[in-house]
Amino acid sequence: MNFYVHTNSEPSRNTARVHVGYCRLCREGKGPSDKLVRKRVFSEWSSRYDSFEAACVAARKSGRKDVAPCGNCLRNRSCPE
Ligand SMILES: [Zn+2]
Repeated sequence: MNFYVHTNSEPSRNTARVHVGYCRLCREGKGPSDKLVRKRVFSEWSSRYDSFEAACVAARKSGRKDVAPCGNCLRNRSCPE
């Protein structure tokens, strides 16, 4: 499976979310449709990762305050500490 990390550096958000490529919010790192992207300037997608764990490591390295798997595609997962 393909995994991607979305980071939102908007000060009020400051999040990193791990997604599976097929997630409708991810679309293999392309993000949701333009209509759903409010402030693209703060929004960034990583390159592809082969494993959930590797994506979690990258998400933590991003320095964003709130790191978690996507609530849509990885609802029952949590990133290892
Ligand atoms: Zn997702």
